[in-house]
Amino acid sequence: MKVLVIGGGVIGTTTAWCLRQDGHEVTVLDRASALAAEGSFANGGMLHASLTEPWNTPAAIRQLIGWIGRENSPLRLHLSQLPNLVGWGMGFLRYSQAHHHRHSTRVNTRLARYSQRMTRLIRERTGIRYDDAQRGIIKIFRSRRELDEAARSAALTAELDVRHEILNVPAAIDLEPALAGVRKELAGAIYYPDDESGDACLFTRRLGEIAERQGVCFELSTAVRRIELRRGAIHRLLTSSGVRQADCYVLAAGVDAPLLAKPLGIHLPIRPVKGYSASLPIAGCPGVPQVPIIDERHKVVMTRLGERLRIAGTAEFAGYDYSIRQQRVRTIIEQALTNLPQLAQAVDRDCASSWACLRPLTVDGPPILGRTPVPNLFLNVGSGHLGWTFAAGCAHALADILSGREPALDLDGLTLARYRRCG
Ligand SMILES: Cc1cc2nc3c(=O)[nH]c(=O)nc-3n(C[C@H](O)[C@H](O)[C@H](O)COP(=O)(O)OP(=O)(O)OC[C@H]3O[C@@H](n4cnc5c(N)ncnc54)[C@H](O)[C@@H]3O)c2cc1C
Repeated sequence: MKVLVIGGGVIGTTTAWCLRQDGHEVTVLDRASALAAEGSFANGGMLHASLTEPWNTPAAIRQLIGWIGRENSPLRLHLSQLPNLVGWGMGFLRYSQAHHHRHSTRVNTRLARYSQRMTRLIRERTGIRYDDAQRGIIKIFRSRRELDEAARSAALTAELDVRHEILNVPAAIDLEPALAGVRKELAGAIYYPDDESGDACLFTRRLGEIAERQGVCFELSTAVRRIELRRGAIHRLLTSSGVRQADCYVLAAGVDAPLLAKPLGIHLPIRPVKGYSASLPIAGCPGVPQVPIIDERHKVVMTRLGERLRIAGTAEFAGYDYSIRQQRVRTIIEQALTNLPQLAQAVDRDCASSWACLRPLTVDGPPILGRTPVPNLFLNVGSGHLGWTFAAGCAHALADILSGREPALDLDGLTLARYRRCG
């Protein structure tokens, strides 16, 4: 089959590679001049089944109110965005109810575990490396209450095969000696041995090169302007480089997906949530963590990617605003480095490269995969804060659907149909 994939981020590129393995004739269209130039460019680098809770936890909703207007809060709501968030925001609140939230966590966890297996499979089949590491991930806590709360969530995901170990402070420091300087401030940690890390941009670009050698065509600097229907099915795409046609179309356009789907009468409940990262050169520095760290209090992550430390965090409801506020970048750098005092002394903050981008967040948390009411349009959208983790799993599941196989992944809670059921 001839397939056009709209979007060359980690999701679209991995989907294209999988579809090619099934023998489809695949073209990827992206408006940027390189793959992974937007949401997949400089993310936190974590492939984790350990952080699969959707963001609308009851606790986060309570905290969000207190965080309004605070510059250093991890979650920020711009008051100017309230009108754009009214309907979606009500849904976000509704899905924060305990039973919905538990269900979405399970759906995400199942997908993340499957995706971790599929990421390994891609690594084995292609031999690609992407500053990847298989050292697990450690989550650190500064209060007993936060640790106990996280231990309860870990017990829920353990039922879905996510292994974890609760560590006291000496055990946490044994595992990651770079934390020794904050020994007195920690209450404990949770270690997830099966989690991994790696550079999503390197992965996407290297997989793209392999896919291209295998016959996938990448049309970059090509923006899809409109999707035209005829008799209920997609007839053609109008792009900045002319008309494109195929048998099937996969929408993998990140935060732009709802804008492209809306004129087709398809409502995708996705909103952009801005995040920041900083990449610090660490060659020769002492006190560099080897195990990726999540600081639960500040909601920042620290991941070693080769000779860089990637620090990422913050969530801002700021609409389609890609601007970089240096103050936010400085905040996450300092919050991260408080955990790593030895590195904090040595590292050159002026050499940090900063980045901001938008996560495509669904109203309930899990991404949206598979069929739509338009018979030749398929979705791989809305992966939110977990798109790197989910990419390989979503791509394999979509290839199963498009190639007419029974998906190896249970799609319950992942299709567009779930919203119709919930009303
Ligand atoms: C600060 C931050 C930290 C993160 N950390 C992690 C992490 O540690 N682990 C994790 O799993 N996830 C993380 N994420 C989330 C993850 O990065 C995203 O979910 C993922 O990159 C989304 O991939 P995507 O392919 O759907 O979107 P994108 O990478 O944004 O790709 C969409 C592509 O579509 C193209 N496009 C859009 N509209 C059009 C059009 N009209 N025509 C042509 N092309 C178009 C864009 O150019 C873009 O290349 C993080 C995100 C942020 C912002």
